[in-house]
Amino acid sequence: MSFDPETATFLVAGPVRIHPRVLRAMSLPSLNHRGEYFHGIMAEIRELLPVLFGVSGAQTVLSGSGTAGLEAMYAGLLRKEGRTIVVSNGNFGERSDQIARRYSDRVTTITAPWGHPLDVEAVRAELERGDVRAFCAVYNETSVGLRNDLARIAPAVRKSGALFLVDGISAVAGIPCPIAEWGIDALVAGSQKGLAAPAGLAMVHLSERAVGELAPRTFYLDLASHLASGRKNDTPWTPAVPLFLALREALLLLREETLEGRLARTRELAEATRAAVAALGLELFPDPRYASDTVTAIRNPPGLEDAEVRKVLQNRYNVLLQGGQGALTGKIFRIGHMGIASYADLLITFAGLERILAKAGRLPRPGAGVGAIVERMPGA
Ligand code: PLP
Repeated sequence: MSFDPETATFLVAGPVRIHPRVLRAMSLPSLNHRGEYFHGIMAEIRELLPVLFGVSGAQTVLSGSGTAGLEAMYAGLLRKEGRTIVVSNGNFGERSDQIARRYSDRVTTITAPWGHPLDVEAVRAELERGDVRAFCAVYNETSVGLRNDLARIAPAVRKSGALFLVDGISAVAGIPCPIAEWGIDALVAGSQKGLAAPAGLAMVHLSERAVGELAPRTFYLDLASHLASGRKNDTPWTPAVPLFLALREALLLLREETLEGRLARTRELAEATRAAVAALGLELFPDPRYASDTVTAIRNPPGLEDAEVRKVLQNRYNVLLQGGQGALTGKIFRIGHMGIASYADLLITFAGLERILAKAGRLPRPGAGVGAIVERMPGA
């Protein structure tokens, strides 16, 4: 079989495969976004957003990818003169740091090497130094397949009185995001990850405190304008209408599965993936205690080129995985297993990987990876 994007097993770390119902929802003729029909769609989306975030509250959708959501959050809530702490242990931590520095002149960045967990004690000590306006973290670092342990950091953020701003782009609808329990003030989700909608929308949840502190420092991404229009089931500017139609359908699918159901399924697929990785004698890239449940990052099999492995998977088995980013290009590959990914996706992926390893004389035992997945599949 050669590569066919229409039927590929598509396990990139986002965008993810889109359900046919969501694809069909996008193919309506042009709609008047100031007309009654679209206002109805917006009303439904607003009603459904709490299914995505697991809580209700001030929530809005921006036309723009996840980064638009991050920029809206930082622009609205950071202050030039206010002290900001950013934690960074991967590509997206670095991106958050770059955006935060546009809107605050007093940024302290606490870094860990890519793929290593954050030093929670160092983070707590920095928060205890006081005078912190905002604490910014990427929850799930997609670039290295690592979940940052925000549960251990959240109490210190609350104690410090800082606003707690979270990039949840590859976390929301993939791993639990206990907004209320952790005291998160702003959480950004991306449409193309756990929700399995097309790329191009950012969903933002804000606490009451955050809403009260929004400052209009960008025009297009001014969250206060977006919230105000939303209350009238409207948007301040022309929205990406087809994407909103897709969003409504993806939210309906999520409601049918339930958020808890999707989180549990994502976790099961992650565990099956990690079991198969271990069974093939491959190694996770991040510290395994913090391995992400939405994306698994794997070191290159020794002696094999990542690009070659992925090329064979793509061209022979119609399976699309993702390589590493930045300094990790060529050193790791990543499997995204969020959204509507399935055991069937994992089975063909690991069957293909086994064939590649067998040819290189590195397969521990035929069926080792696939068997590890089969063992974890729900019983008949
Ligand atoms: N933050 C995280 C954790 C991400 O995974 C991504 C995208 O993969 C982004 C930010 C950037 O989002 P986008 O590419 O949708 O702008």
